[in-house]
Amino acid sequence: MPQSFSVPRLLINRLRDVMAGDMEADTRLQKVVTLIAGTMVADVCSIYKRTDTDELELVATEGLAATAVHQTRMAFDEGLVGQIALSGEPLSIQDAPRHPAFSYRPETGEDPYHAFLGVPILRGGRVIGVLTVQNRTERLYDEDEVDSLQTIAMVLAEVVASDVPTQPSSADPRESRPITLRGRILGEGLGLGAARLHDPIVSPARYFTDDPDAEARRLSTALRQLQASLDRMLTNDVSAIFGEPREVLEAYKMLASDPMWAARLEETVRSGLSAEAAVDRSRREHRIKLENAADPYLRERLHDLEDLDNRLLRVLAGSDGSAVGADGAEAGAASEVLIARRLGPAELLEYRNSGLAAIILEEVAPSSHAAIVARALGIPTLGGVAGISNAVAQGDQVIVDAEQGTLHVRPDQDLLTAYETRRLMRTERQAAFQALKDQPSRTRDGVDIKLMLNAGLALDMDAMEKTGAEGIGLFRTEFQFLVSDTLPKMESQIGLYRQILDYAGNRPVHFRTLDLGGDKMLPNANKGEEENPALGWRSIRFALDRPGLFRRQLRALVRAADGGPLSVMFPMVTKAEEFFEAKALLMEEIEWSVARGFQAPCEVRTGAMLEAPALAFSLGELASEADFISVGTNDLLQFFFAADRMVPSVSERYDFISRPALRFLDMVRQECERHQLPVSVCGEIASHPLEALCLIGLGYHTLSMPASGVGPVKRMLRSVDLSTFGPEFRAAIYDSNADLRNEVLSIADIQKIALKDHG
Ligand code: PEP
Ligand code: MG
Repeated sequence: MPQSFSVPRLLINRLRDVMAGDMEADTRLQKVVTLIAGTMVADVCSIYKRTDTDELELVATEGLAATAVHQTRMAFDEGLVGQIALSGEPLSIQDAPRHPAFSYRPETGEDPYHAFLGVPILRGGRVIGVLTVQNRTERLYDEDEVDSLQTIAMVLAEVVASDVPTQPSSADPRESRPITLRGRILGEGLGLGAARLHDPIVSPARYFTDDPDAEARRLSTALRQLQASLDRMLTNDVSAIFGEPREVLEAYKMLASDPMWAARLEETVRSGLSAEAAVDRSRREHRIKLENAADPYLRERLHDLEDLDNRLLRVLAGSDGSAVGADGAEAGAASEVLIARRLGPAELLEYRNSGLAAIILEEVAPSSHAAIVARALGIPTLGGVAGISNAVAQGDQVIVDAEQGTLHVRPDQDLLTAYETRRLMRTERQAAFQALKDQPSRTRDGVDIKLMLNAGLALDMDAMEKTGAEGIGLFRTEFQFLVSDTLPKMESQIGLYRQILDYAGNRPVHFRTLDLGGDKMLPNANKGEEENPALGWRSIRFALDRPGLFRRQLRALVRAADGGPLSVMFPMVTKAEEFFEAKALLMEEIEWSVARGFQAPCEVRTGAMLEAPALAFSLGELASEADFISVGTNDLLQFFFAADRMVPSVSERYDFISRPALRFLDMVRQECERHQLPVSVCGEIASHPLEALCLIGLGYHTLSMPASGVGPVKRMLRSVDLSTFGPEFRAAIYDSNADLRNEVLSIADIQKIALKDHG
């Protein structure tokens, strides 16, 4: 928890008077630096402002030569001031001229000063200037002084940002320049809207208070309201995602009731700052710690704290603390692009009905919980867009192109026109796919191909109606665990599985048991040190070694089936014994449930996911016990090509459409047929028309994929005559050495197979 904090009350009061006074911006800042120098017994106090050309210009000083104001300019990374601007962190130095980064500026007359303390002036997470104090003598400023100067910098931020002109232009770069940034596609689609910053900005008008007692009461009322709003969320129905997300919210609630947090905020308010300023200060501290924390568990906690700060700011602004509705914005009003450093799944859910056009996250985390939820909500989402919160201001127009992985802030007319064309094309495409929804999924020569969905949240189930998919080929049960902070209780698991089965009705659902480990670690799990987590203690290995956790899940599945059919598949089975062991546990759980008066499923089907190549050579052994095989090409191909699926530089290096991979999959399918094991494919490649064409060409007739693939794949397969494509395709695989991708493309072209999105 934070250390003690003190800014002299007198200084706060005087600062407030200076801020409130009617005067020129330059005069105001001059008064501020004089005041700070006097109170902190500093010989020098200066303010540098970032210009629109990213230089740092001296805009006010007490102690340095007055003639240097608006004349001294430094590069953004120059000198000690530049170091602070670059790092965004305070810097305290006993003898500045001896520091290697010191940059001597004779025009300022700063020769005799030794001690130096500087802090960044931050606004919306962006460094907009630097505030420094200096002393003649060599000394190190203490923590309280660093702390005080940071608080003053916070108070100054808006004045520096808005009032102070720099030479030659006063424009804030964010207000003018259109820019284009790149990000990683977390949820596919296109979106255009006004930027909505998830983290509230505190207005400078609300930094001070005249009446600290009244302000302390206001703060304590807000804290109570915050707790009440969390209570309400706890009882609200957010079952769309995880049955009951109590664990996440309970963790927030505990943090919100922390007396240390409240005491610290009150202490700040009693120094003469407003409740908003106190919370903003706390948020900055959490953010800085977050930036420096490497441990993922600590990062999660610090993020929760930052999130609470934001919620409390919203409560103080008059909303109930939820992200939607802050600033008086109406849910479902004009399209907005949500911009956040990062988001928790519960926060994102709060935006569920507010018609977000897109989401941009600063952090990169394709498997992040918010990304999982965003995909399920069908909102175009880009992640890993470093610096977005610095580049965009509230209300800026933003185009999010989550088809190509780019975004344009303040786009010009050409970009807007191009966007509109792309959007229309996408809409037409979607409409064409929609029209196919109820058409049979059958090739031209009458072969039925079953198209199923990959899902992981209750929200995904909507896609079944929208796409006309025939069931859930892969239900990733670990998502419920990943979006929660603590292990979901059995009741929550039963609730979710039941919801899925109810929704599916007569359509089949294949529940994949917990696939944890590798890239899918539980938030609180002790990861241990694994050199190669993808090859490590994960999936069925982890489940069999943790039978308590695994059995609870199996029990929940049996209970959810409630006498109906149940289909379960086990992830990353490498040898047949693992499958036998897992299946035996399932059977024991059925017996256990029956002994306690619950109904046994009327039909139990068990399958193995073929993800480790070794299993391809144990299919005969497996056939005595398994009912089906599901080929998980995401993992299978990474093991087959020895290329980590999480590392783009290698994962995109090996083409699935290559003879080794296709010959291997051909062998797998034939082996399955020989042993009378039904087989399907459920990796991402099944959602790409060309790859799916290869799969059906090999004889795979059941494909499970993300919802976005169903339309394009159905369109493709309805244009294929397998009796002509199959033999030519096989000849290309077995009797030719030419580039296989090109060969397949040319066969498809000649046979007029609809591979493109349109036309
Ligand atoms: C796979 O590996 O192909 C698969 C479907 O499972 P996941 O992507 O969840 O590892
Ligand atoms: Mg897998």
